[in-house]
Amino acid sequence: MLSVNQATQRIRAAVRPLGAELATIDNTAGRFLASDVVAGRNLPPHDNSAMDGFAVRAADLPATLPVAGTIAAGDAPGAGLEPGTVWRIMTGAPVPSGADAVVIREEVDDRGDRAELANPAQPGQNIRHAGEDVASGERVLATGTQLGPGEIGLLAALGHATVPVGKRPRVAVMSTGDELVGVDVTPRPGQIVNSNAYALGAQIREAGGEPILCGIAPDDREILVSMLGQALSADVLVTSGGVSVGEFDHVKAAFDRAGVAMDFWKVAMKPGKPLAFGVTDRGVPVFGLPGNPVSSMVVFELFVRPALLAMQGAATIDRPRIEVVLGQTYKKSPGRAHYLRARLVRHRDAVLAEPLTKQGSGMLSSMVDVDALVEIGRDETEVVDGTRVSAILLRSV
Ligand code: AMP
Ligand code: MG
Repeated sequence: MLSVNQATQRIRAAVRPLGAELATIDNTAGRFLASDVVAGRNLPPHDNSAMDGFAVRAADLPATLPVAGTIAAGDAPGAGLEPGTVWRIMTGAPVPSGADAVVIREEVDDRGDRAELANPAQPGQNIRHAGEDVASGERVLATGTQLGPGEIGLLAALGHATVPVGKRPRVAVMSTGDELVGVDVTPRPGQIVNSNAYALGAQIREAGGEPILCGIAPDDREILVSMLGQALSADVLVTSGGVSVGEFDHVKAAFDRAGVAMDFWKVAMKPGKPLAFGVTDRGVPVFGLPGNPVSSMVVFELFVRPALLAMQGAATIDRPRIEVVLGQTYKKSPGRAHYLRARLVRHRDAVLAEPLTKQGSGMLSSMVDVDALVEIGRDETEVVDGTRVSAILLRSV
């Protein structure tokens, strides 16, 4: 059986970026830059005042000097400063040539046409110099950067109304199982709600993809094949259920029939041993996730999320990992890596991982308010409380 690392490598080798599109800047939050950005202008564009006050020549002070006029934010740079005079100036207004300092208005006795400046001034004080934040020609953002508020503000300041970003993958989500009913239906005995579609849909959105919910396929190979055919027009296909060895598990055979070249079926991990992965001749990655709700979400985290990020051209596709101290002894049989859902608490210099009590692969409560997946290696049999182990951070703590 493939290890988690081997499966990760195989998926990475099979997945290609979808390419770039231009997005209007107000639609770029969370997306990934598709090219480097070089500043085409200085920020700030001109020397300007950091405060409301008076533009002066530091060498003239202290003195009482005539006021040449007022410069407001938005005024074009105009007349310079004659030695022995001052300009009244507002925050953001261009500093007149010849002035080398701004004295804040609180320190000046402003008498209208004259100003009494009783203190000396340091050259450069309260002046923001052209290009001191960003110099024209400087590379400010690299390809693959995820755009957050700071990056978007900078792009706007540099005048980018549109931004090249990686295309978002459209991800078809198909649930399989005769027992499944829609979320708006009260289940009869034996039925359960198709919760995976919604959990996976949310995970897809969080990873920058656009989920396309394709509904529920019954445990019938022919119907499955025809539904898969339609779903494969998306950029990625994710199914849940029907991939293990049960009598009604038809997904693997249906993938074959629908033209998916299968790469592997199983990964040595828990939760989530069954994971079918393959690619169509159009290059559409297909993930057959297990049906158990926690298994499907954990498998998504480990394998589908990085693939969706790679398709968007993200520079970083893995969640951060940190070393944590295991809060309780954990025993297992060898052969599969285990991923424990845990909450993290800071304890002195360390981070303590408290596994949630319900670790069953169907127990959705273990996915609520969860901070991390604690990884227990494939060959481990007992990890005693206090041992340092690796954890995948699902959110910052
Ligand atoms: P399977 O992999 O099809 O054998 O399903 C394993 C378990 O997951 C069964 O208990 C199913 O009822 C459950 N299951 C399968 N698909 C879903 C789904 N879409 N939503 C919630 N539970 C599911
Ligand atoms: Mg099933």
